[in-house]
Amino acid sequence: MTPADVLAALTKTGCRITVEGDALRVRGPLTDDLRAAIRENKAALLELLRPFTPPVLARPDPLDFRRDPLTGAWLHDPGWWRGPAQVREIHEPRAPCPRCGGRRFWVSVVGSRICATCYPPRPGDGVLGWIAPKEVH
Ligand SMILES: [Zn+2]
Repeated sequence: MTPADVLAALTKTGCRITVEGDALRVRGPLTDDLRAAIRENKAALLELLRPFTPPVLARPDPLDFRRDPLTGAWLHDPGWWRGPAQVREIHEPRAPCPRCGGRRFWVSVVGSRICATCYPPRPGDGVLGWIAPKEVH
């Protein structure tokens, strides 16, 4: 049997054949002869059918990446765009505020790190995120 013969036989018996990755999927009443013929012609059938197969999205969706405004790094965060925008908090080792000894800072829209005790953000201040001390164990 040629690959075209196999496809014709499948159609005649009412089977549907599709490509999923590197595998063939057949739905319908398969006979043992047809099963053997498919196995024998697998490579040729994959090549024949692939142009009619929608591409499989194997890589992560580019929409699921977002830039972290605090660190500038790209994060893989699936579905982040579904939720409301959130102010983030990161933890990093840093010296406390020299004036008050405070350990919590906020990051302004221009990237300045400002002591939350001495200069808490006022309404209307753009806050990119918060920085809290990194716990050292
Ligand atoms: Zn301070």
